[in-house]
Amino acid sequence: MTPVPDAVELIRAKRDGRALTGTEISWLISAYTDGAIADEQMSAMAMAIYFRGLDPAELRAWTAAMVSSGERLDLSGVPLPTVDKHSTGGVGDKVSLVLAPLVASCGAAVPHLSGRGLGHTGGTLDKLESIPGWRAMLQAAEMTAVLADTGCVICTAGPGLAPADRKLYALRDVTGTVESIPLIASSIMSKKIAEGTAALVLDVKVGSGAFMQQMADARELAQTMVRLGAEQGVRTIALLTGMDTPLGRAVGNAVEVAEAVAVLRGKGPPDLTEVTLALAREMLLLAGLDADPAAALADGRAMARYRRMIAAQGGDPDAPLPQAARTEVVTAEAAGFVHRLDARAVGVAAWRLGAGRARKEDPVSAAAGIICLAKPGERVERGQPVLELRGDHDGRFSRARAALAGAIEIAARPPAVRPSVLGRTGL
Ligand code: URA
Repeated sequence: MTPVPDAVELIRAKRDGRALTGTEISWLISAYTDGAIADEQMSAMAMAIYFRGLDPAELRAWTAAMVSSGERLDLSGVPLPTVDKHSTGGVGDKVSLVLAPLVASCGAAVPHLSGRGLGHTGGTLDKLESIPGWRAMLQAAEMTAVLADTGCVICTAGPGLAPADRKLYALRDVTGTVESIPLIASSIMSKKIAEGTAALVLDVKVGSGAFMQQMADARELAQTMVRLGAEQGVRTIALLTGMDTPLGRAVGNAVEVAEAVAVLRGKGPPDLTEVTLALAREMLLLAGLDADPAAALADGRAMARYRRMIAAQGGDPDAPLPQAARTEVVTAEAAGFVHRLDARAVGVAAWRLGAGRARKEDPVSAAAGIICLAKPGERVERGQPVLELRGDHDGRFSRARAALAGAIEIAARPPAVRPSVLGRTGL
């Protein structure tokens, strides 16, 4: 008879560096999901994994067990090639709002199950919820109906999708075990595999505002996720993109929706447009479609698709977006070129203004946020506004300003130009 694994034995084994078997991992994840393993035991296991890692076979088993902890959506009835994108999270990252309708307007189906912001990085659902009437919560049947009708849907992942990750991610968040490449890779990929997409493009952010601040770590995360996708039958590639400074000029919720709409009108900031088009090209390639996303942006097809997608989820794409009650500016302390505008500091400041949440049950302010009036490479005069802070409550501004101490560097010469797309990882 096969002995029943014991949680403490498995924690000790991982702590001491022994690789866990597939059977042990599948028991562990299933018992944790069912509540038979306590949070403190899973915390100890997460910390052991943080230090010891998971080898490729363990990681494969871990990810498969997380997928099997819930349902796997069946999108086989969708008559178009399905392809999605996932970003590891950054500041001002409103790419999904443009990308889903853009790629759909080129002939693919984009089932984008997304999350909410936590900490200094924003969440796509929080941004879209600033559009009056728009609903993030769809039942599975409604989600597939919107997908079939408009070719794209952006909604919350239901509680039945990778429930082990839902529990484990909340636990990692409060136990200092988020920053582990195997745990991040399995967390992201289990949700995307369960979502049912046939192909996936990962946007792995690198820089001060990202999880991965070093290129080598970002590359390792990208390679790990690409391998996991391939092992689970999801065609996956990753782009590595810069996150030292906010993407575009807007950071927040309603302000990011407005900037996404500007991209759809062909009037978006160059860095945001470049990253969006690079991801769109990769998605179309993986979906086997020969289409030009730049043309779909230029001729209004992507915008028309965006309007349909918003309306299909109850939103009014023409409704005015919420405006902040109060604004303040942060000015340049010297004349010269903006050398650095730190993504993390701007993200934290926007969060403190009310755009983000500290706990997952906190509300967010739709109108709060920051507009970057000058970005790295642009010339400013002494006293010229560099940032516009927007918020609903006076009391939030001083804490936001404190987060921005040292975030803006001005120099006599312009900085070296860094491309927005830093690398690509495929199998
Ligand atoms: N995003 C996720 O979904 N999971 C992680 O572990 C980190 C980022």
